[in-house]
Amino acid sequence: MSYQSEQNKKQSSIGTYVICLVVLLSSVLIAIYVRNSQEKALTTILQGQAKRTELKLTQSAEHLIGELFAMSKRWINNHRTSEKNWRADAKDFISRLTGVSTLWWVDADRNFQWGESTEPNHTEIIYELLQDAEFKEILDTMAQKYLPEISRTYDLAGKKWLYIFVPIGSGLNVDGAFIIEVNIKNFIDEQLGDPLVSGFYTEAVANEELVYSNVVDVKDMSHFATATLNLDSDQDGWDFNVYPIAETSQIILSPLPYFIVGAGLVISLLFLIALLSRLKATNQSLELSKQISETEKVQFELEYLANHDTLTHLPNRHYINRFIQKKVKQGLLNNQKFTLLFIDLDHFKDINDTLGHSVGDKTLKKLPVLFNKVFRHDDVIARMGGDEFVVYLPGELDVPHVEKLVKRFMKSLEYPIEIGEHQIRLTGSVGVAFFPQHGTNVVELLSHADAALYRAKDQGRNTYAIYDSEIEQKAKDRVELISRLHTANDRDEFEMFFQPRYELLNQKIIGAEALLRWSPNEATLIAPDKFIDILEETSLIIPITWKMFEKSCSQFKQLLKLNDTLSLSFNISAKQLEHPDFIKKLRIVLSKTDFPAHNLELELTEQTLIQNVENSRYILKNLKQMGISVAIDDFGTGYSSLSYLKNFPVDVLKIDQSFIRDIEVDSGDLELVKTMITMGKNLNITTVAEGVENENQLKLLTDESCEQAQGYYFNKPMPFEQFEKLLTKTFSN
Ligand code: C2E
Ligand code: CA
Ligand code: CA
Repeated sequence: MSYQSEQNKKQSSIGTYVICLVVLLSSVLIAIYVRNSQEKALTTILQGQAKRTELKLTQSAEHLIGELFAMSKRWINNHRTSEKNWRADAKDFISRLTGVSTLWWVDADRNFQWGESTEPNHTEIIYELLQDAEFKEILDTMAQKYLPEISRTYDLAGKKWLYIFVPIGSGLNVDGAFIIEVNIKNFIDEQLGDPLVSGFYTEAVANEELVYSNVVDVKDMSHFATATLNLDSDQDGWDFNVYPIAETSQIILSPLPYFIVGAGLVISLLFLIALLSRLKATNQSLELSKQISETEKVQFELEYLANHDTLTHLPNRHYINRFIQKKVKQGLLNNQKFTLLFIDLDHFKDINDTLGHSVGDKTLKKLPVLFNKVFRHDDVIARMGGDEFVVYLPGELDVPHVEKLVKRFMKSLEYPIEIGEHQIRLTGSVGVAFFPQHGTNVVELLSHADAALYRAKDQGRNTYAIYDSEIEQKAKDRVELISRLHTANDRDEFEMFFQPRYELLNQKIIGAEALLRWSPNEATLIAPDKFIDILEETSLIIPITWKMFEKSCSQFKQLLKLNDTLSLSFNISAKQLEHPDFIKKLRIVLSKTDFPAHNLELELTEQTLIQNVENSRYILKNLKQMGISVAIDDFGTGYSSLSYLKNFPVDVLKIDQSFIRDIEVDSGDLELVKTMITMGKNLNITTVAEGVENENQLKLLTDESCEQAQGYYFNKPMPFEQFEKLLTKTFSN
């Protein structure tokens, strides 16, 4: 993810946080405002209720007093009315006016005359009250002013009481006073009604004393309003406190503010959740894109590995195959041409064998640099494996152009490559094929370039060949030969010829080398140089050799009757030696044919021996133990001729015929042969000269004390029967 989008993400999340905060804050502010309004409304309503309470109580008190006054007036006007009637009046008064429990008549001399009451012991109470100083004082005041008076509150029998005095008559015409006893609780309850109906509780405080309360349950005493009722100027006023009942405060102080805050919270939360889920989503997508890029990396690496050679980092066989396939397709569509070079380094195997694989690898690693100096950017160079490379050259190139390029490449190979202390000089062989002239699919093109490469190698390596009809024929022949060799093996068309080997001192036959021949029909005999390479390549050499070996042993066994010191020399190829069962198989054949091991000699080339030094050592040790002798074949043509002889227990050196051939004319060759013979003597190894063709050669070798020889001078390789005859003749003489 880019820096820009990372920044955007940060900004948008800050934005969301701010929105959350604003929403939350404003919801709190709105809630506070609403709450304040609610409280204000409640206070106003409470004040209204307090005012109403004051009015109502004032009115009802005034009404009560008014009624009493009316009665006192009636008293004055109807002086003659009997006591019984007054008392009936009084009773009616008490029953009509709730809260009024008693009405007494006290005469002008302050004597209690009669009273009507709902209370049982009202007579005692009035007598007692008339003794009360305050009571007397009120009566005094009333006597002077002829105005109604109200007493303070009295606590009697656990209830609060209030007494109201109304004078009867005035001036000289005074007839005492009516005193009514008011049960404060009952009276106010009647006026205010059920708090659950009115919606308010009320309490009254007079002289700091709670004189009335219908409060049942006020949770919050902080909401109230007060009205002061002052009915009597002599008394301190009553403070009425009005409280809302639970339902009232619930209605007015509704939880709206909480809802508002809650809503704010919910909105902010929703914002936050949206933000968080978006953050999570972006994180997840980040994680995902990380994972994806991780997988892409792995995929890329896998793809790289699948398409590249790990040693040189050049595209590999797989890649170039597909690449050429693609180019063929495009080429056929758009008439585009290209050229393929098939390159093989000459004798690269020897570098591995003699200097070790690590030097070989390091050399290969340096090749891409060299390639890049010669080939262009849009040329594609791939390693096909081992020391084989393919170069794709786009566009149409004429033959001179390609030749120039190939020569430049071969020239560039000449510069020595330094690997540690080694200076490695390479040469290469190149096969060229053109698209579309030499093939219209990848297999054809590559195999034709390869066939051209074969030709270049055939021509002595360090050269190139462009595919042509001759090569085409050869390539076809090769394919045909392979299939013919398979059938030849099935049909047992192979046989062994024997070439005698001579002791030079007495010119006696000491044994013979078995040499493979292919006889596809009675009239034809094919020498191994025509097919032995292909037998090795196809591994057909293994089954054929074992068959031939067994047959040779059985045949040669017969000859031992003529001379039991005769030795059978048998050629063993590298392919065979590598086979893990080699020694085991050898023992089996020897025991099956009952062929004495000490009459057997195996011929191995230097190259075979150094290809896998460990295995060679193991094989040679076993052969020695079995009593089989070992000959180094083609001695002198290899690389490390001398040094390894000390390491391997070798019995015989077969000096290659290339040294013998020119021994008469080439003093250098003679010197080399002399050295080899001397060396063999020093190491107690028998020296054999191969390919002795004439007497001069024989003489020179005899002079140098070469021990043994074989060659056309003595005999050409011959079928067994002929060899047998020769021996019979030799040893029966
Ligand atoms: P080699 O092992 O060096 O065999 C000696 C070759 O020299 C034989 O060729 C032989 O016919 C030839 N030769 C002998 N004397 C003369 C001579 O005076 N002048 C000339 N010009 N050539 C002479 P051949 O039989 O054609 O075998 C060629 C090669 O094929 C052998 O070379 C050997 O490397 C391989 N070969 C032959 N038979 C076998 C076999 O059974 N197994 C394996 N692995 N390789 C075999
Ligand atoms: Ca040989
Ligand atoms: Ca040889």
